[in-house]
Amino acid sequence: MGNGLDYEVVIAGGGFAGVYCAQSLAKQLGSSASERVAIVADHNYMVFQPMLAEVSGSSISPRHVVNPIRGICRGVNVLRGDIVDIDLPGHTLTLNPGQFSTEIRIGFKHLVVALGGIVDLSRVPGMPEHAFLMKSIGDAQELRGAVIDRLEEANLQTDEAAVKRLLTFVVVGGGFSGVETAGEVLDLIRGINRFYPRLARKDFRVILIHSGAHLLPEISVELGTYTEENLKARGMEIVLNSRVTSMTAGKVVLQDGRVIESHTVVSTVGNAPNPIVVNLIKRNNIPNEKSRMNTDATMRVQGFENLWAAGDCAAVPMAGGKVATEGAVPSPFVMKKYCPPTAQFAYRQGILLGKNLAHAISGRPEGMKPFVFTGLGELAAIGHRTAVAQIFGMRFSGMLAWFMWRTIYLMKLPGLDRKLRVMIDWTLDLFFPRDITLLRSRTTEVLQEVHLEKDDVVFHAGEPAMSFYVVKKGRIELRDDTGTVMSLGGGEHFGERALLSDRRWRFTAVAIEPTTLVSLDAKIFEAVSSASSSIHEFFEHSAQQYVTRQQIEGMIGSVPPALLKMTVGDVMSKNVVYLTQSQTVAEALAVMVEHPFNSFPLLDGNGKLLGAIQQTQVYDALKNGLAREATLDKIAPSQLPTVRTDAPIPQAMETLMRSGRNKLLAVDAAGALKGILTPIDLLAQRQALESTQGNA
Ligand SMILES: Cc1cc2nc3c(=O)[nH]c(=O)nc-3n(C[C@H](O)[C@H](O)[C@H](O)COP(=O)(O)OP(=O)(O)OC[C@H]3O[C@@H](n4cnc5c(N)ncnc54)[C@H](O)[C@@H]3O)c2cc1C
Repeated sequence: MGNGLDYEVVIAGGGFAGVYCAQSLAKQLGSSASERVAIVADHNYMVFQPMLAEVSGSSISPRHVVNPIRGICRGVNVLRGDIVDIDLPGHTLTLNPGQFSTEIRIGFKHLVVALGGIVDLSRVPGMPEHAFLMKSIGDAQELRGAVIDRLEEANLQTDEAAVKRLLTFVVVGGGFSGVETAGEVLDLIRGINRFYPRLARKDFRVILIHSGAHLLPEISVELGTYTEENLKARGMEIVLNSRVTSMTAGKVVLQDGRVIESHTVVSTVGNAPNPIVVNLIKRNNIPNEKSRMNTDATMRVQGFENLWAAGDCAAVPMAGGKVATEGAVPSPFVMKKYCPPTAQFAYRQGILLGKNLAHAISGRPEGMKPFVFTGLGELAAIGHRTAVAQIFGMRFSGMLAWFMWRTIYLMKLPGLDRKLRVMIDWTLDLFFPRDITLLRSRTTEVLQEVHLEKDDVVFHAGEPAMSFYVVKKGRIELRDDTGTVMSLGGGEHFGERALLSDRRWRFTAVAIEPTTLVSLDAKIFEAVSSASSSIHEFFEHSAQQYVTRQQIEGMIGSVPPALLKMTVGDVMSKNVVYLTQSQTVAEALAVMVEHPFNSFPLLDGNGKLLGAIQQTQVYDALKNGLAREATLDKIAPSQLPTVRTDAPIPQAMETLMRSGRNKLLAVDAAGALKGILTPIDLLAQRQALESTQGNA
């Protein structure tokens, strides 16, 4: 300690629990808080998540639902940085402050963990790559932009199927944020479609997919059903009892096999524990409830003197709560054992934790109080000036509930200026259409992953080439009118031929199984390949492999029929200089000096072909310390294209052309090396045949 970044209390997390804890602790400690307390968060603002859906629906400005932590946590130190590690026994946490600084350690005596949760979509193939989320302010802005973008694009489309796909919006998850988001998207589209006269007659679809039997499982079945009927009456399609099993950039596949074609899918499911918390729990054996840290009623983590937790990452006991009986039908009126992960709990926990901490660090533990709040109820705005509410056991819906929703959330929104700004946004929204400005700062996307299902098309022949691709997993076929030109699996790449020439795809690329591609923007590809001659040469060379059936047939057609009837074994050179695995590096060097080829076939003790050894591989191995006496089995051979000796010449010519190489190793049925076939062998055979014919 003593480097100026040591505090008595460090609060990790700048959300509801963290911010309100810092505020309340600062109030208790007075001016000494500026020396003793720090709040650490990866953003310098707090997001009021309950209003995110309204940002995506363009009824509130994004800036009005965020609050600078420095403004609302006066009197404590605000440290903006990404927490990358927490060393509990060492009383330090490690922070990544930004791109120009090295990691910084912050010392603490007491640590409050209020890091919330994350979204993990990895269980649904394609979702991490293609779904929009609803967790951060950026997510809400992205979704708003995407909805407007789709309308702009559809406005230019003439293909009906493409328009339909562009105007289909899918929201996954029928909980609060799913229902609110779907309602807002519907309102946004309804509010702005009159600006797109070409689309006015078209069918917009907003589809809400929920895995349960009724929407809003957090509240009563009646309100869930009311919500469903209300949304349906407004034109939303609701799919219940169904899960998304996979998705791509153009479609969603449901559990029952149904496919919905859409380019805009929002996922509000997939809440998962924060990995920093998961690590902390594992390393310190912290008691937990599905990775939420178990605390006592004062929010001290069970079994730890200096560790406290609140909010979504804490399992704080619910006063009077009990464990749900196995198999019992969940009821909103039966208290759960732990407080639910909601803002109304997180912020109240934060306030009480601040007070309890002040008592704990001032040596007055008897002043600490248990958390006794059990919830006021639930409220959800479902769009079109309608909300559903269940408060103190009473149920409301419609405009009254909506008015209540607005009043309560406005009261809870921190900062008077933000309250006023949101009030103004809401008032303007009553009289003016929603804003359709598409203000997106376009940054070049350097790397992106793309998930495809079987038969999905990456691009069509003739379209402009925009990216270079590497197959991460799965398989892609490049096709032309005559069939498959090339089949590419994991680790292989494509796209360089078009990017290095006329920037038009010559083939159609299709996934033949579920596939993930890593795509690199064309501009970056060009910049890299023009900056390095060796990379450029590599791609120039691999670009040779894309040969069409027409080119292959043209080449085969130019060969005399007598040659086409021959086999590889008839034409190949049988004098092959090779190396064996049991030879030493010194012996290999002697062979290389005598025969200055770039590569040599490598055989095992039985004459079976193992691959090829390049001269450069041997030099590199020596440079890396391999002894001259070491045998060649210490060097992993590279692969060269092979062909069977009994293969007909047309097949060998096709393999040669597709390989982009100038030689094929010829093997027998057992894989033993028998010869080598080069274009020179073919030419020599042709000449021999022609001169025989001439003599005759
Ligand atoms: C769209 C949406 C709508 C919602 N609507 C409602 C609602 O209507 N009513 C309701 O009660 N609840 C609602 N919730 C739930 C509510 O927002 C959460 O329960 C609440 O935010 C939890 O507060 P928290 O402080 O535990 O976590 P958060 O508010 O998530 O705060 C966690 C903080 O930790 C920071 N952090 C995380 N990892 C790191 C790291 N490695 N380094 C530094 N900082 C880090 C984050 O940036 C953030 O500042 C909604 C949630 C969402 C997503």
